[in-house]
Amino acid sequence: MPHTAGRASAASVRAQGGRDRGGSLSGRLIIRGGRVVTPGGVRRTDIEVSGERVAGFDPRGSRDGEVIDARGCYVLPGGIDSHTHLLGDVASGTRSAAFGGTTTALCFTNPRPGESAPNALIRGRREVEGRAVIDVDLHAIIGEPGRISTADLEHLKRLGVRAIKLFLAFPEQGLMATDGCLYEVLHASVRHGFLVKVHCENGGVIAALVADHLARRRKGPAYFAYSRPPDVEDEAIGRTLAIAHLAHAPVYLTHMTTAGGIERVRAARANGQMAYSEVCIHHLLLDASLYRGRRASRFLVAPPLRSRENVEALWSAVADGTVDTIASDHSQMRYQPPLTNDFTGLPYGFAGIELRLPLLLSEGMRRGLSIRRIAQLSATRPAQVFGLYPRKGAILAGSDADLVVWDPRPRWEVKASALHDGIGASPYSGMTLQGSIRYVFLRGRLVVDDGELVGSSLSGRCLIPAA
Ligand SMILES: [Zn+2]
Repeated sequence: MPHTAGRASAASVRAQGGRDRGGSLSGRLIIRGGRVVTPGGVRRTDIEVSGERVAGFDPRGSRDGEVIDARGCYVLPGGIDSHTHLLGDVASGTRSAAFGGTTTALCFTNPRPGESAPNALIRGRREVEGRAVIDVDLHAIIGEPGRISTADLEHLKRLGVRAIKLFLAFPEQGLMATDGCLYEVLHASVRHGFLVKVHCENGGVIAALVADHLARRRKGPAYFAYSRPPDVEDEAIGRTLAIAHLAHAPVYLTHMTTAGGIERVRAARANGQMAYSEVCIHHLLLDASLYRGRRASRFLVAPPLRSRENVEALWSAVADGTVDTIASDHSQMRYQPPLTNDFTGLPYGFAGIELRLPLLLSEGMRRGLSIRRIAQLSATRPAQVFGLYPRKGAILAGSDADLVVWDPRPRWEVKASALHDGIGASPYSGMTLQGSIRYVFLRGRLVVDDGELVGSSLSGRCLIPAA
């Protein structure tokens, strides 16, 4: 990400503080003079870091230790992205995350055909270790829902999994769970203490709509999106909430995109249900008008981009607390279906882990969200919902010193080639953002210094404990 401001002051901080480029863990670190975003509010105070943890706060100005100058900046808890697909290239995805102020990624496993969910998790953990720039927790995708067994669920729990995911769509990939399977997994989740994340789109109806469009020779990329209309999502959300109610289980709804879905969540909560709601940054920043242009194929994602009316309903839900988390659904590689000569063979999915927090800060503050609310959506709620709080997700004495120093002053334009995911394309290319990230700390270690990665920085950990 381009950084235009602060380079001189970063250099002078290094000169004064003598902090070495490797971000050594020895001694104390002081983040000086920033506006610190804590669960209790925004405080102007120094932060004292000792080793990997926040040691405390000193509003009068601490004297000892290496100093990072945060004057004029906000200090936020390191971002936690609740929905990512990084396996296959953990190094690129987590490096990209670090530049965007995300210090923990909740990443899905990628089970291969015939591979059990626990074995996919063990393979994922092996891939993360030694390759990650930030901390990574793994959530288990149930790749063959018809074959998931009680023994598999118990094994996942023993491995330390905090969440698992089921799909109500993608029958063509063998991912679509039946309603009975959804009920059984939700029911078991209460006993095992993990949270079930559900992709809510009605896969059977989507398949029928796809067949309709193709029968009418509607082959263009926009029909990918028109095959997945809001009703298809609303129905699946309503059904999931009803089944979770029957199973007496909490449930987490991934990447919600519709006003109708939001209304169903509000109604379920009013009825006493524990329903968590996730929205993705692309559904807040982009809309379905992009499908009318010549570049429609660049914007394919499931669920698709929605009308302005739905986008505004999502922002209202973000502001009023209905939405718990804002994620990227980062795909390090777009999903490529088997090739065809119509929209069903087009790749889809977005990379967004690097811009999630900068976009949310820029657009959220422009819309009047408080920076405290932005910290909740981007870090605190993901940590609370997925069992990482208060070690992660907030700047508190004793928490991991995962910190982002964000300067609200610079304006800059997104250039895909300047992002660090190695992809070279971005749905956000050409957008202008307000504010840029100056420093990122992972457990007290400086990992991004004014637009540069510090050292080799492969200091991320897998939060699934080794067996
Ligand atoms: Zn996803």
